[in-house]
Amino acid sequence: MVSAVYHDYSSFANTTTFTDVYSNFNQIPELNIFEKLWGSYYYYINHDLFATGLLFFLTHELMYFGRCLPWYIIDRIPYFNRYKIQETKIPSNREQWECLKSVLTSHFLVEAFPIWFFHPVAEFINISFQVPFPSLRTIGFQLAVFFILEDAWHYWFHRGLHYGVFYKYIHKQHHRYAAPFGLAAEYAHPVEVSLLGLGTVGIPLVYGYFTQNLHLFTINTWIILRLFQAVDSHSGYEFPWSLHHFLPFWAGADHHDEHHHYFIGGYSSSFRWWDYFLDTEAGPIAKQKREHRMKLNAEKSKVA
Ligand SMILES: [Zn+2]
Ligand SMILES: [Zn+2]
Repeated sequence: MVSAVYHDYSSFANTTTFTDVYSNFNQIPELNIFEKLWGSYYYYINHDLFATGLLFFLTHELMYFGRCLPWYIIDRIPYFNRYKIQETKIPSNREQWECLKSVLTSHFLVEAFPIWFFHPVAEFINISFQVPFPSLRTIGFQLAVFFILEDAWHYWFHRGLHYGVFYKYIHKQHHRYAAPFGLAAEYAHPVEVSLLGLGTVGIPLVYGYFTQNLHLFTINTWIILRLFQAVDSHSGYEFPWSLHHFLPFWAGADHHDEHHHYFIGGYSSSFRWWDYFLDTEAGPIAKQKREHRMKLNAEKSKVA
């Protein structure tokens, strides 16, 4: 069996080692370096289902923990304390260790299993993994769509998870840390991991099904960006150079830290618009404004 990652291997010779495979892909002029690496990886593994499973699993582990590491280091450098949102609450090593164990267990018990079914599902709905990749324009457009749709999914399901029994039995676990840190991004009940994870993975699958124009590379890139967003929003740090200062509708740590601090409001993941328009922003200032508006409305209705 030869990988379906490329359509024509007629010119390929001597493909014993990964370097051999790469030098064959290197002869194809229309491929860029990422496409050559991607093609070589699939060809070398020689089992497309296994290659996708391994790629997605490793991407998740490396990108998640890789992104958490700088925050762990920053927590231990006193200089950065001035940028900490809840400055007295530096997570202890013990807290981080407990969190790490739980997140790793969840990765192996809850997430590893569906990841192995990703390739057959993707193949079934015609999501491509062949080289070359789609154009940058297509990839950029699809990433923006996924960010916008996932944010809406996250807002409504996360808001739902704050109701009574759902909170008590499911979402309370994620709120164990009132002052979050990077690693806590995926510290959650398995039901929550599945429900909110469905927004991250299910949305691209549905998009791919309806448009018949989606590539696994785009999904992989999307998952990396979404992981970075989740870890950063739990970092507990607000810098003068944080993204929301340049993109005012971007949520970031400033937005999500308040959610952990006050429990009420700030339910969306990437953007601020749902909370803004539905009047569910978190924090004392938002609460004050809300109460002021309610008072004005009550007075108005009294006059009427
Ligand atoms: Zn919450
Ligand atoms: Zn959180």
